Amino acid sequence: MRLGIVGLPNVGKSTLFNAITKAGAEAANYPFCTIEPNVGVVAVPDERLEVLAKIYNPEKVTPAFIEFVDIAGLVKGASKGEGLGNKFLSHIREVDAIVHVVRCFDDSEIVHVEGSVDPKRDIETINLELIFADLEVLERRLEKTRKLAKNSKEAAHELEILEKIYSTLESGRMARTLKFDDEEDLKFVNSLNLLTFKPTIYAANISEKDIGKENEYVKVVNEIAAQEGSEVIVICAKLEEEIAALPDEEKKEFLKELGIEKSGLDNLIQAGYRLLGLISFLTAGEKEVRAWTIKKGTKAPQAAGKIHSDFERGFIRAEVVPFDVLVECGGFAQAKEKGLVRSEGKDYVMQDGDVVIFRFNV
Ligand code: GDP
Repeated sequence: MRLGIVGLPNVGKSTLFNAITKAGAEAANYPFCTIEPNVGVVAVPDERLEVLAKIYNPEKVTPAFIEFVDIAGLVKGASKGEGLGNKFLSHIREVDAIVHVVRCFDDSEIVHVEGSVDPKRDIETINLELIFADLEVLERRLEKTRKLAKNSKEAAHELEILEKIYSTLESGRMARTLKFDDEEDLKFVNSLNLLTFKPTIYAANISEKDIGKENEYVKVVNEIAAQEGSEVIVICAKLEEEIAALPDEEKKEFLKELGIEKSGLDNLIQAGYRLLGLISFLTAGEKEVRAWTIKKGTKAPQAAGKIHSDFERGFIRAEVVPFDVLVECGGFAQAKEKGLVRSEGKDYVMQDGDVVIFRFNV
């Protein structure tokens, strides 16, 4: 599961990506594997792990991870093959969600490709390229489906959906503004892998001078995002780059001085995790306290399988206690004594923050 960072040139994408790689470097001893230079892996900030670590004093604390891909090079005209346009568009197709960086800082030293700072125009420029690319995909698909629709009810239904998306894009709206309640319809739309259907966060990149202040540019981004039901995270990429390089303790001190609780990057990572439809269940013991990533809706045996395939194969039950309840009791064993640990079977849908012990046959 990956998020792709897109945006016009000079809006702060590389700066943000550097912040991500710097923040990730600290986690170098954690289990992940990646070699591609344009992929950054970061720990998902999770205060619950710190709390559990205080209770269990484990040898090791392992957070969940999330991957960001730097997709530089998207420019006006990309869908018409300008720059390395099509190549970048195909990179966006490969990611599961998008972080769209928007320049919301004034700086006469830094040239804006369009000559001025204008978030609305910038967002529309990028979104239009994505729309053009999707229209092309849809046109091919429509042609095929129109033929099939003459003899097939299913194809006729698909044709309806394709036409609905096509007219939405033609009117300048993103496909993700459409809602598909029917599960089969949604599956079909997902299979089209449209750029404009990918869940998106707008990252409003503000100046260090504007931290904690109202910003007119951000307001514009908020309005656009609200219209399409997307989230906005305000960051100052330049500052994030500096913060990310600090050791944990100093980082907290620094944020306190700035009068903010969480860095913009931390907010972005957490929002990205949610956007991908991911949640964490937790395991806690003296060896390790750990967050495990699952898709929302995952059932207990498949969650167990994240730890080890044997756990899934031999799954008997899951002993589950919500994080808050465990903390209130002072530990898993104490919660169990109080009868607050539930025994859940193979149909149990895991919840974010479940602290779990899986029971299984070997
Ligand atoms: P990219 O082309 O989108 O990857 O943009 P860069 O990350 O290379 O940033 C372009 C320029 O803007 C660089 O000189 C950055 O230092 C500067 N920049 C990026 N983020 C910020 C920011 O938050 N505040 C200020 N003042 N400058 C920034």
